[in-house]
Amino acid sequence: MSVHKYVEKVMKSTIQSTPGQTEFYQAVEEVLISLEPLLQAEPKYDNNNILERIVIPDRQILFRVCWIDDAGKIQTNIGYRVQFNNTIGPYKGGLRLHPSVNLGIIKFLGFEQIFKNSLTGLNIGGAKGGSNFDPKGKSDGEIMRFCQSFMLELSKYIGETIDVPAGDIGTGGREIGYMYGQYKRLTNRFEGVLTGKGLNWGGSLARTEATGFGSVYFADNFLKKVGNSLEGKIAAVSGSGNVAIYTIQKLYEMGATPVTCSDSRGFIYHKAGIDLNSLKLIKEINRASLEDYAKMHTDSVYVPVSKYPEGTNAVWATPCDIAFPSATQNELNLEDIKNLHKNGCILVNEGANMPSTPDAIDYMIENKIMYSPGKASNAGGVATSQLEMEQNASMGNWSFAEVDSKLRGIMKNIFDLSYETSKEFGNEGNVMMGANIAGFRKVADSMIDQGAV
Ligand code: NDP
Repeated sequence: MSVHKYVEKVMKSTIQSTPGQTEFYQAVEEVLISLEPLLQAEPKYDNNNILERIVIPDRQILFRVCWIDDAGKIQTNIGYRVQFNNTIGPYKGGLRLHPSVNLGIIKFLGFEQIFKNSLTGLNIGGAKGGSNFDPKGKSDGEIMRFCQSFMLELSKYIGETIDVPAGDIGTGGREIGYMYGQYKRLTNRFEGVLTGKGLNWGGSLARTEATGFGSVYFADNFLKKVGNSLEGKIAAVSGSGNVAIYTIQKLYEMGATPVTCSDSRGFIYHKAGIDLNSLKLIKEINRASLEDYAKMHTDSVYVPVSKYPEGTNAVWATPCDIAFPSATQNELNLEDIKNLHKNGCILVNEGANMPSTPDAIDYMIENKIMYSPGKASNAGGVATSQLEMEQNASMGNWSFAEVDSKLRGIMKNIFDLSYETSKEFGNEGNVMMGANIAGFRKVADSMIDQGAV
């Protein structure tokens, strides 16, 4: 059977056996297609049925989460943990709290996480979890009761050498705190079972900043490779959460000017540059809408999502040199990339997971727009989580500078590995292909070593 037919066969059986999981198919297809040159060169992956095995999670756990709202009423959500692959280390991946969460979304995120974690060079396996719980508009008490109930069930399946969850959309320091407190109460163990913890109780300096900082370090490496730099660049950034905020901060530190940010309700364009202090106040402290930013900065423009043509994203119609999608999946489509291209954008560096649609990715590859895939460029978060686990295991605390310097080194290694692998397979500069092949190869070879498991 030709390699292409092998990939088609696995895609077909995945769709048949897991109906309705659109985002999961999208993530699997992107990886499998870009593996074709490797599969061609190395029949051992086909001979060992690696593709058939790697698209099926080790296990997926679904559970009911009941919690009491402020009115005394019982509310119900669905909790998920998909433990995808622990061949090279304990399961690791975030917990997403968002009303859009379903099994297909958690599976796409868990699948991506396998290769991302492998690329970091650290010993961590891939997993993801979360719930369709919506933290927006909930009181602290409601958030706490939800998190405690969620952990009541999740605690049965995790542990410092088994599975170590972390934050993601909707899960920040507050939620990790409530979940950790509950885990400790249930097990009587103070252990590094979650990352993203508070600094007083086992957290790591620079973990909050890590994904955003790491994303900018990745872009810096890519630009340097082609004799360019971040200095003087105008950047469009989407999102205004953890990843976007620290991407914006690091862009300034490296000489670029971020001029946009967004949330699910609208976007801000501020030609003078996004004011970081205002953004942190609105999003990290007040948990409010970006509309407040326009009130604080009258020279900025706020556009509600409803004012923009269906399916396109206002952020990407902004003139910029470099783009950092840092909100959510499929937020940058073909129309958006054409707008970016027309306006002279030379690099799309993904901070979010799978933010670009498949046709947007094809357009970037065809038109030689530099493209950093999220599984490589946003891996700084999980890498620093692993550094948090190392500090917990040794009962140590490293300085901010120490963690940041390790993060920089890891991002450089991920870039170099992805770039060199693209070259090895005759597609120099196709970092998506390089990242997929390099991430896959380490896990697949280890699966072969470990036999029929
Ligand atoms: P946050 O919850 O901190 O922020 C998410 C941001 O994206 C918010 O501005 C939110 O707006 C916006 N957003 C979320 N969903 C949508 C949507 N459906 N449409 C439009 N905007 C949306 O999450 P993070 O910053 O942590 O995560 C952002 C992305 O980065 C995700 O793809 C995540 O998986 C990925 N990532 C995160 C890592 C981390 O360490 N945190 C690590 C690696 C990847 P609003 O506030 O209005 O909801």
